[in-house]
This record gives sequence, C-alpha cells and structure tokens, in this order.
Amino acid sequence: MLTALRRIVLEFNQEAELQTALERLVSQVKRSMNTDCCSVYLADYRSQNFLLTASDGLAQSALGRTSIGFSEGVIGLVGQREEPINIDNAPEHPHFKHTPEVEEEALKAFLGTPIIHQSKVLGIISVQQQKIRHFDENEEAFLVTLAAQLASAIANAEARGMLGQKKDHGKWVKQLVGIAGAPGLALSKVVVCQPDADLSTVSLLKSANSEYEQQRFYHAVLKTRVDFHQMSEQLSSILSDDSLDIFEMYKQLLSSVSLADEIKEQINLGWNAESALKQIIDKYVVQFESLDDVYIRERGSDIRDLGNRLLFNLQRQQKQQQQLPDKFILVAEDVTAAMLAQYQHKGLQAIVSLSGSNNSHAAILARALGIPAIMGVDPIPLSQLEGQIMIVDGYNGELFIAPDSALQVEYLHLINEEVALTEKVRAAIDLPTITQDGKAIELMLNAGLASGFEHSVRAGATGVGLYRTEIPFLERQSFPTEQEQTQLYKQVLAAFPNQQVTMRTLDVGGDKALSYFPISEDNPFLGWRGIRITLDHPEIFLVQIRAMIRASIGLNNLNIMLPMITSVTEVDDALNLINQAYFELKDELKDQLKDEAPPVKTIQIPRPKVGIMLEVPSVIFQLKELAQRVDFFSVGSNDLTQYLLAVDRNNARVANLYDAYHPAVLRALNMIAQEASKYLVPLSLCGELAGEPAGAILLLAMGYDKLSMNPHNIARIKWVLRHIAYHQAKIILNHVLNFSTAKQVHSYINEQLENFGLGGFVRAGL
Ligand code: PEP
Ligand code: MG
Repeated sequence: MLTALRRIVLEFNQEAELQTALERLVSQVKRSMNTDCCSVYLADYRSQNFLLTASDGLAQSALGRTSIGFSEGVIGLVGQREEPINIDNAPEHPHFKHTPEVEEEALKAFLGTPIIHQSKVLGIISVQQQKIRHFDENEEAFLVTLAAQLASAIANAEARGMLGQKKDHGKWVKQLVGIAGAPGLALSKVVVCQPDADLSTVSLLKSANSEYEQQRFYHAVLKTRVDFHQMSEQLSSILSDDSLDIFEMYKQLLSSVSLADEIKEQINLGWNAESALKQIIDKYVVQFESLDDVYIRERGSDIRDLGNRLLFNLQRQQKQQQQLPDKFILVAEDVTAAMLAQYQHKGLQAIVSLSGSNNSHAAILARALGIPAIMGVDPIPLSQLEGQIMIVDGYNGELFIAPDSALQVEYLHLINEEVALTEKVRAAIDLPTITQDGKAIELMLNAGLASGFEHSVRAGATGVGLYRTEIPFLERQSFPTEQEQTQLYKQVLAAFPNQQVTMRTLDVGGDKALSYFPISEDNPFLGWRGIRITLDHPEIFLVQIRAMIRASIGLNNLNIMLPMITSVTEVDDALNLINQAYFELKDELKDQLKDEAPPVKTIQIPRPKVGIMLEVPSVIFQLKELAQRVDFFSVGSNDLTQYLLAVDRNNARVANLYDAYHPAVLRALNMIAQEASKYLVPLSLCGELAGEPAGAILLLAMGYDKLSMNPHNIARIKWVLRHIAYHQAKIILNHVLNFSTAKQVHSYINEQLENFGLGGFVRAGL
C-alpha cells in the first residue's frame, strides 16, 4: 500500500495540468483500492459548491457540470464535518442526495474524506462500491493519508491554474494573501530570484520558440559534459577509480539517446527547456523510486542529480541575460538577508517571499530598510511571475498580480498618501520624545542589519539600543579576527561619540547560521543559540569582548549585552569571561604603554556596563537575582513572544498564532517593567514591538525607559508619542491588561489610535 501511495503522489505532482493529474489519480486510486469508483470534487467558495471534477466510475458527461452544495448530500456532509465518512449503504443515508446525471444507482458503499490545506477544505475524495459493505480501517487510513499528501499539491496546482488564466474582460486580477512582513506599498514589475538548480521548484512553462529552446538544451548538455570531465580530472588524484565511476555513469546517462531524445521531444511539444527537462527527469525518478529494489531506487537520485546539473547550466544562461528593470519587486521562494543586501541599491521596491514569517530576519531587515515585504505566501509558480506588474501591500500582506488599471490608480493614490504621511512625521525627527503631558522617553536605534551609519545618525535616535554583531559575522567566510572586529566596532562607537551604544554579543543559531560554522538541529530555536554557543566557545567570546573593549578606548560609550540568557549561571559564567578579557587587556596595555610619556601612559580602559536580554520566559521569574548581577535589562520581545506562546517565529504555518499583543505577552512585559523598577534596573525593549505605534504607547505606559527600533520607525514613533499624553496611555494600558484575547486588544487599540487622530497609523501599526 505504501509503495502504491508513494507512486500515486509522485505521479500526481509530476503532471502539468490539474485536470489531467486528477483524472490519472482517480483511476489509480480505484485500481489500488479495488473499488468500483473513485471521484474528486473540488470546492468553489464563490458558489459554495463542490464541483465533480474527476471520476473513474461516475458518468463522464457529469464531469465539470455536476455541483453539490456545501451542505448537500453525503459529499457536503464530509466537507461540513471535516472528517472521513464511511457508509455501508449510502442511498439509505438520510443525507444522501439523488443526482441522476452521475449515474451512481448501482453504487452502495461510500467512503469520503476531505482534502484540507491550511484549515481550508479544498475538496473531497471519495470511493464507492457496488457491494454493501464497510470500508476497513486500512482503506480508510489509505484514503486519509492520500488526501493529506495531495492537499498542498492541489493548492499549488490551483494557484498555478489561476495564474495561467486569461483576464476576464481585462478585469481579472490575481490576489494572494501572505503575512505582512514590512509595512509599505509598492507597484512595480516582478523580478524572480530562482533558487539555484532545483528541479522540484521549476514550474512548467510553454515556449513559442522551440528552436531556441533546443539550442539552449544543446548548450547545457555540452557544458554539463565539460563540467563532469573537469570534476573527474580534478578529483582523480584524491579519489579511487571506483569512486570516479559515478562521473562515467553521469556521462553515459547524458549521452543516452533515449533520455536526450525524450527531452527534445518534449521541447518540440512546446515546452521550454527547463520544463521538458523536469518532466522527463521526474518520469525516470518516479519509475526508479517506485521499485522495491533499494539499489535501483537509489539510482533515482543519480538521475535527479544529473537533471539538477543540467538545470544549473540552463539557469546560468538565463542569469547571464537577466537585466534588472529600474524599479522592481523581488519574488523568491526564500528571500534571504543576503538577497536584500544584494538588491537594495538596485531599484528594489518590495520583497515577496514564499517562505518565512514576519519575524524572520529577512523581514526584520526589510523593515529596517523601509522596504515593504510579504512573507509566507502560498506556493505560486514563480517563473510565471517574471516581468508581471504586481502590487504589494505590506500593511496587510496582500499582493495583486497583473492588476487592472483601476486598481493601479487606486494604489498609486495610496502610495502618494503614504509619502505625504512620511514627510509629515519626518518633521518631528530632531525634536525630543516627550508626551503631551511632559513624560520623556528615549528612542534608540536597532543597528547592525544595514551597513552604513550615516542615515541612522540622522534618524533622530539618542544612541544605539541594540547593535546586532552577528550580521558582519554572517557576511564573511570565516570568523573575523580580533583586529577586524575592533575596527568595525570602533566605527560604530565613533558614529555615536556622546551617546550610549549597546552591542550584543554574537547571537547565532536559530535562523541565523554561519556558513563556516554549520549547526544542524531539528529544533534550532530551542537548541544551540546565542549565549549557549559563545559560552561553549570561550575563544570566540573572549575575542569578541576584547575587540569591543579595545574599540571603546577613548570613546567610553560601550555597553555589552548578552542574548538568550536563561539562567543565573550563564550570567555568572559570561561575567567571569568579560572580567578575564578586561583584566588581560588592561595588563597588555599597561605593558605596551609603560615606556610612553604622559598623557599616553595614563590612557584608561573603560569598563563597559553589562546587561542581559530578557527573551526567554525563565528569566521573568529570576529578575531579583539577575538584577543583582547586571547593569541593565533589555527585553527581546521577538523571542519572548515566540517562547511564551510556543510559536516558531519563522514558521508561516503558525504565523497567525504569533502575536506580541497576546494578553500573556503584554502581562509578562508589564510584570517585567514593575519588577525592574522595584530593583532599580534600567529597562529597555528592543524587539519589533517597540517600533509599532500601539506597542510604543503600551510600553511607555508600562514604564519602559528606552525603546529601541529600526531607523525607519524612529520618526513615526516619535510623532505618535508626541501626540499622546502619558496619562491617556496609562488608561489605554489598564483597559488592555484586562482583555482576555489578542483580538480584543487589537480592535480596542485600533479604535484608540483613531480617537487620538493617529488613524493613519492603524493600517501601519498592528
Ligand atoms: C528579540 O528577540 O526581540 C531581539 C531583539 O533579537 P533578535 O530579533 O535578533 O532575535
Ligand atoms: Mg532575540
């Protein structure tokens, strides 16, 4: 059964057209389960009907014509209950609806199960049999497993099908919803950044110029043959002849007339070279992988490797020809921080990432750069998007593909309004952050993500509340030396000569991996992260601390902050290492300067203040002990939300559960503020919440001394806080702390922002 299931799913995924895939599927299921009929009904939410889309057993004349209402018949019942329904004799069932045109009179036993993707019923798959009987547990399990595996493939295929549709009288617009990753609007052409050489991500496309595609394929084969030759030459001195056989096998496969001919045939049928390659390679892989012999099954992966190598050479041809438009929206399977860095000065207007969530570091970086972002969009065939006009609404996570002119005009109007609002708030940039009734609060900068401090200094901040040191580490091929780090940190500290700069020690792990220090874990956010890594590697930690302290000589504005603290022991261990670095440096400097004349001889090494991030729930219950050890606390609300709510901040599937306005998170933040004030510890918050209008108002009311945010948000938050009174913020907070759901919090705060004339921020804020 398992082999049959694997084969059915593989073959389903391989089909270009949803209709053909479903037709093939129903026949295979009918055969594998030995039943008299198998059918698939797809949901149409506009008409609230299930449409009979494919069947092997029902009248073919009913396909695409017969619809069953969402609350009609046994099919409707499966959809409503969202569970399998197994009926011995369906015509006798009270919900049975007689539909003469499907000609199912002879069919009695019925088993139907919903096809559900991300809590939405996409359709129903059913099997029927003439004999009155109950389908057994194994049959039920088979159908349920199959439906679960088909769900995302059907969702993808539907998206693909819809994108392929023609506009309806010029009015058709494809609208998709993802997660709002960074606020802002954009209207531009799409540039797709395809992942390198992965056949599974190729979406099937036709080409009008088969001759050109044949040429491309021919050149890719030639280049791939040369690659294999060079690889085996290079490795011949290190590898045995046996190991080199693999290259011979690849070369033989490449020369195999049938493989190349089949690909050329597909091209002649009108597919582009990538699609033809994918179809034929997939076909071979399916054939190999559905065999029981393990050795032969593994040859499937050799064929896939060969396919990926050919694809690499096809994509290289395309990339060499790619010209970027002046302005564009970047769309990719997984937009990375590196891609943002690569394109940010080349006309990048917005990003759309199929994976990730609003607290992935790519989204945080987009916010820091003021670039609208949508994350975690349902799979769409990327290559069909290239060159299309797209609207990105980063406020609510909506995107429109090929919008009609009316929608374009509407959004251009909104974009102009947004520009005007930005101008308005910019007027407050150099004013102090004081509420209407005179309460002052400091706005600091989150830095380190974007290079260059010039624009940050002008952002109106009173220092750096969080400098993420890991970013320079991420951009390199090996750990930076003490000297390199010293130079880098000196630049940062010198950019804020009379202001405090809080540098966080290396916080890698989680979704921030160093290519030269790979960590592979099932649960990276609960694994080896932040301080856990640096305490296990004092050589890395000590070098970084020494570099920071050295850089601060003569500037005296350094604070050191420790990430991911969960216990008092970690703080003690880290403080010991910081002391060690400090005294070692002091001795070294004394030796170096002993022969110098004053005043050089008297140069002092400043002792930095040391604080910790409060981002793991355990520390909330140890604030007293921690307060005795450190100089300040800074709440990392991004991680604190993730750990309090047990929601991976990077996982689009649970993004709707990640909410810093969840009552538990707000009450925890309030508790921290009260305790910190009791123990007289300066308190700041440097998570994304600080840069949101509603978040800033609540944090002000809770008593946070400093809010640290990306440069882009400083003017906006300053403007908001200057337009509200502290006592009003307190009233809002008191209400909010009594709510029991995040939804109540959101709607109440939106209402309040409107009341205070801050409505323009409602769309942008939450
Ligand atoms: C946080 O967790 O809130 C934080 C500021 O750190 P990061 O987002 O880098 O984990
Ligand atoms: Mg964090």
